This record gives sequence, C-alpha cells and structure tokens, in this order.
Amino acid sequence: MKLIALEEAFWYDGLETDGTIEGRSPVKPVKQADWERRLGDFTEFRLPEMDEAGIDMQVLSLTAPGIQMQPDPKVAVADARAANDFLAAVVRERPDRFQGLAAVPLQDPDQAVAELRRAVDELGLCGVLVNDHTLGHYLDEPRYAPFWEALQQLGVALYLHPNPVPSDAWHVLEGYPGLDHALWSWNHRTGGHALRLIFGGVFDRFPGAQVILGHMGEFLPAQLFRVDIRFRDLDPQYQNHLEKPPSAYFGANIAITTSGVFSHPALMDAVQTIGVDNVMFSVDYPYEESVPAAEFMRTAPLAPADKARVAYGNAERILRLDR
Ligand code: MN
Repeated sequence: MKLIALEEAFWYDGLETDGTIEGRSPVKPVKQADWERRLGDFTEFRLPEMDEAGIDMQVLSLTAPGIQMQPDPKVAVADARAANDFLAAVVRERPDRFQGLAAVPLQDPDQAVAELRRAVDELGLCGVLVNDHTLGHYLDEPRYAPFWEALQQLGVALYLHPNPVPSDAWHVLEGYPGLDHALWSWNHRTGGHALRLIFGGVFDRFPGAQVILGHMGEFLPAQLFRVDIRFRDLDPQYQNHLEKPPSAYFGANIAITTSGVFSHPALMDAVQTIGVDNVMFSVDYPYEESVPAAEFMRTAPLAPADKARVAYGNAERILRLDR
C-alpha cells in the first residue's frame, strides 16, 4: 500500500536563524544528537528509512520553530527565501520521493504573502507549514487576512504545527519541563490556536481555507462533542457569530494527521469523529520512527478503501499532489 507522510522535518544550515532549541529541550542528549544528524540529511538515513518502512513520499518542512522566533523581520524574510529555495532544490532532485511545505515570514504579513506566492507559483511547493504563533501573534489577527486570502486563492493548505517556544508561561506546568513539551503542552497550545481560527471567524471569511493539524488533531477530535454542546449554551456575545457549530469546521476546513500518534483507538476516534476523508497518515520524522508508524497504518482496523484514503488518498487530494 502506498504511503505518503506529511509532517516530516528537515533543517538547512545555511540560515542566519539558529533553529535549534537545545537550551529548552528536556530530551535525552543522545536522542537530540540523533535527530540533529537526521534533520540535515536526505540520502544517508532518510531515504533508506523510508524504503525500509515502505514510505513512498515525505512532504518536508523546516523543523519547528523554523524561522518563526526570528525577531528581525528582514532576517526572517531572507531566511524563508533561502529555506524554500533549498527545499525546492531537494524536491527537484527527487520529486517522486519528496514534496515540500514552505516557510513563510509571518513577522511581516505582506512579505509572507509574497513568499507564499513565490513558493507555490515559482518553486512548486505544495503548501505552507506554520509553527503555531509567530513571536506571540496568532493567525486569527486581522493583519493576516491578506495571507488567508492568498492561501484560499492559491488553493493550498496551511499545516499548523506546534511551536516549542511558548507564547506565555502556563503556571500549571511550572517545575515540570517534561510536560511543557511534545508530551502535552505543545499540542494543547496548537489545538487552542486552531480553535482561535474557528472562533475568530477565519473559516467563515475564507471558506476555501484548508488547515491541517498534526498529532491526531492536537486532542481536539476527542473534545469536539463537548466543544459543541458547551458552545450551544454560551452567551451569544461569546459565540462570535459563527455560521455553524465548531465541530462542523472539521472536514470543511480542518483535516488532521497521525504524526506521532500511532494508536489504533486514537485513529478510530478521529476517523469516526471527523470522517475518514479528513485523516492523513504522517510520521513526524526524525522525531518518530518510520517502521512502527507504517506498521500502525498497514494494520489499522479500517476497510481497504478507507485505509487507502488515510494512507495516501486524502493527502493527494488535500495537498493537490497530482497537479
Ligand atoms: Mn512535528
């Protein structure tokens, strides 16, 4: 069975931005070193691991936080261009095995629109990946309306990925750095960002916008029933004039991937909650291993046609890989 994975990270050393987050990482140094070795590689470790797992294609993106915590907008613009040029060259080398999601310098919304258009129209990248907030700015802010307009017009998806640098300090996590990580808080923060997009009316204003969430939907599929039923009872001023209940934006505008969550119960919850057309296989290379991820997909308790949708069909449709 064909497999397309779409939350697959790389790093490019030619950037002025230091993309590493070692100072904050609670991860074992040996693991961190292995990840860093693999992030800059495409042929020595990456392709052999893809072959071993039977993964046909990785859709690549600059690893988090990418350029998004770069305080100088001019540097962010230059680094986004350099990263996207590098990524496009990797894709041109092996378009059968690699596609790419662009980095965008959201520090300067006009420049982000320009780079989005260049990345898609000139470089042939198939969407963008944004690591949650950009220096504390979220994508429901009015300054990003032209960016959503351009995404909708180009017909490309925005992958909303966690940002390991939090925009604020959560008191509940104080003293437990292990919780302020991929184990828990990144996912809740990113899920919160997705709910901001819904409650901010982004999808009412841009009904053609397509967002992708990783990590089996950042906890949201399991919560959607309660989101809707508590939304029903909100004072109207807090319902923000949404055109439909929050869960209805899943499928219409939000799809999810399995990155880092290779659990059949979690997969079945997501498939049953938001629909089999809206769930896509992903690994989260190099942070997760491809072989067990592929095994999870191949053995998923889904009918063959549904499994094919999750394994590659939905990705081809949503990322328009057949263009
Ligand atoms: Mn990831």
